[in-house]
Amino acid sequence: MSALTDLIYAGSNAVAGLTEGAVNDAIAKNGAETPVAFPDTAYFFPTIYAATGVKVKTLGDLPACVGVLKSLITNQDDIGQALNAGLATAVGAEIIEGLKYVGGANPYENESGIGFVPDPVIRSLGVPLVTGDIPGVAVVIGKADDPAVVAKVVKDYQSKGIVSFLIGDCIEQCVEQGVKMGLELRVVPLGHDVTSVIHVVTVAVRAALIFGNLEPGNLAGLIDYTKNRVPAFVNTFGPLNEVVVSAGAGAIALGFPVVVDQPIGDLQVPGALEAVTDYDLTVKRSLELRNIKIKAAAVKVPVAFAAAFEGEIIRKGDMQVEMSSHASPTCELVTMRDIDKVEDHKITVIGPDFDQVELGAELPLATYVEVAGSKMQKDFEPVIERKIHAWFNYLEGVMHTGQRNLIRIRISKAAFESGLRLKDMAEVLYAMIMDEFGSVVDKCQVTLVTDKEKVEKILAEEAMPAYNARDERLESMSDESVDTFYTCILCQSFSPSHCCVVTPERLGLCGAVSWLDAKATNELNPTGPCQPIKKIGCTDERTGAYTEVNKVVGEATHGAVEQVTLYSLIEDPMTSCGCFECICGIMPEANGVIICNREYAGMTPSGMSFGELASMTGGGVQTPGFMGHGRHFIASKKFISAEGGIERIVWMPKELKDDVAPRLNKTAKELFGIDNFTDMICDDTIATDTEGVMAFLEEKGHPALGMDPIM
Ligand code: SF4
Ligand code: ZN
Repeated sequence: MSALTDLIYAGSNAVAGLTEGAVNDAIAKNGAETPVAFPDTAYFFPTIYAATGVKVKTLGDLPACVGVLKSLITNQDDIGQALNAGLATAVGAEIIEGLKYVGGANPYENESGIGFVPDPVIRSLGVPLVTGDIPGVAVVIGKADDPAVVAKVVKDYQSKGIVSFLIGDCIEQCVEQGVKMGLELRVVPLGHDVTSVIHVVTVAVRAALIFGNLEPGNLAGLIDYTKNRVPAFVNTFGPLNEVVVSAGAGAIALGFPVVVDQPIGDLQVPGALEAVTDYDLTVKRSLELRNIKIKAAAVKVPVAFAAAFEGEIIRKGDMQVEMSSHASPTCELVTMRDIDKVEDHKITVIGPDFDQVELGAELPLATYVEVAGSKMQKDFEPVIERKIHAWFNYLEGVMHTGQRNLIRIRISKAAFESGLRLKDMAEVLYAMIMDEFGSVVDKCQVTLVTDKEKVEKILAEEAMPAYNARDERLESMSDESVDTFYTCILCQSFSPSHCCVVTPERLGLCGAVSWLDAKATNELNPTGPCQPIKKIGCTDERTGAYTEVNKVVGEATHGAVEQVTLYSLIEDPMTSCGCFECICGIMPEANGVIICNREYAGMTPSGMSFGELASMTGGGVQTPGFMGHGRHFIASKKFISAEGGIERIVWMPKELKDDVAPRLNKTAKELFGIDNFTDMICDDTIATDTEGVMAFLEEKGHPALGMDPIM
């Protein structure tokens, strides 16, 4: 037997023994009827569910799974068989980790790792993964001889936008070396036991179930999905033992290459298991193995600049200077000019810079960007302007919230001490605009103003009129007022048969792509993910059915979706990928629909959580009665208008209801003459059970109760 297969089998057999013992102990202690589940998932023990179709619900379901696990370990001298034994190790790890959750308490409460990753988090990763904003996923396991080495590798991934999941002592090593952690910072500590690696494996596995419409039990389909669509790889640090090797074999079976930092000579399998002992090459080789290309941002500034810093919070005590509309006039404006009025790459700062004011100072700020280009359109101004938020946030030590005339920017003391000044922030805007919008922007000049009077003048004379004009344009824009809709197929890299149809009154279900965004995307990249659909061939105005929509969606989904309507939840509804902000589903008792947003962790009147509701749809298939959609769509006049529209909404989580209330109430008044419609909509602070919801709706005289039957 080869040394490698030997090691793998030794590890798999050890894990099998441990798993069997742990299951028997747990049953002896708690009884076979005791429920067992990971928190906030609709996919049971995800690896077991995806690979075999078995839904583990109680401890008594586990011995059969141990049987399957053991059957995967043939001990035959064949690398394919040995990789299967690696999958057995994954199953064993899943069971051992699952047992930690028996009794409902969070076993990771007092750990530095987070353990199981809930479904909503995976859904939230959909868009950044498809846009390449997150170019890959690194699994970092073990303990480095020198903590600085692993920290450097992880920081390098962070600066490239790659999400790292850490397992083992490398967590403390990174903390000690000052690596900032958290999902928003793209460094996620999972746990110390080697078995906690399963928590990243189940992320990949659930991606296949959520986005890929994988049929549970289709092991070959699962492996095909993870291999081709999940850009993950593994780096191990420190000496290898057989359990790590067999877990690595599981990773390789799923298509994730493993790079180890030890000389392993003959054990290497080119392309799958490689030794890289020069740490300067670890990242490079790992990315090559997975064919991950990093788009280098062409920005030269004194602090790090990466998407990974987008979620960074700067507290008051760490702040050098602040620019906030609460205290001073502020605005951000991108405006289009004639080509001869713009001097390319002209950067101007007017007023005091950060080093000319005292610590803790409040500054006014106008971020004033002028662009010109033969293909530039007025409609693209807000599309570019909205990105200022992200670009400023990419700067390490800069926190940006809000937009237009309502913003807050904090500059940290550390960033200031590194030398960050207003000029650098202007350079960031210039570089990113030319990088991302270069096909429509030929020239760009950036002016940052901190002189109060001058900011007030720009705000009053240019910014406010521009915002008002845009709002009027958006307000007047309806599906009737345009002659073109757009497809968006960005999510096809995870959901191969999914296609959003984006119209002025219906944005993409991720909430990130409005009709203007889709139009700009098409202009920037004519062969890209957003293709125009001529608004012709209407066959049913009520449902929003068009022969042309069907034709273009049919082509975009390679025939998977033949008929789709724009405004119906029941008749050929739009497909869902998995990254939807909200899901709506029919509540038959109330003759209406409930809507639940991704952030809501509680129960809904359907008896299902968001995660469970969400698992009813997705994967690019049409599921009449359930539909993913963007938050903004809720107040649209077109929201399930085929079924009667917004009057059908009977329940939402309070946070969502409050958020959409101003616009939803306005639409309700306009369409149906109802005042304060949201007062009639039940929420989680009132009731989450059918009787409670029904009693509330009856008391309020909710219109859905008197409408035609929804089904
Ligand atoms: Fe994905 Fe649709 Fe959003 Fe495009 S609009 S990124 S396809 S969810
Ligand atoms: Zn999506």
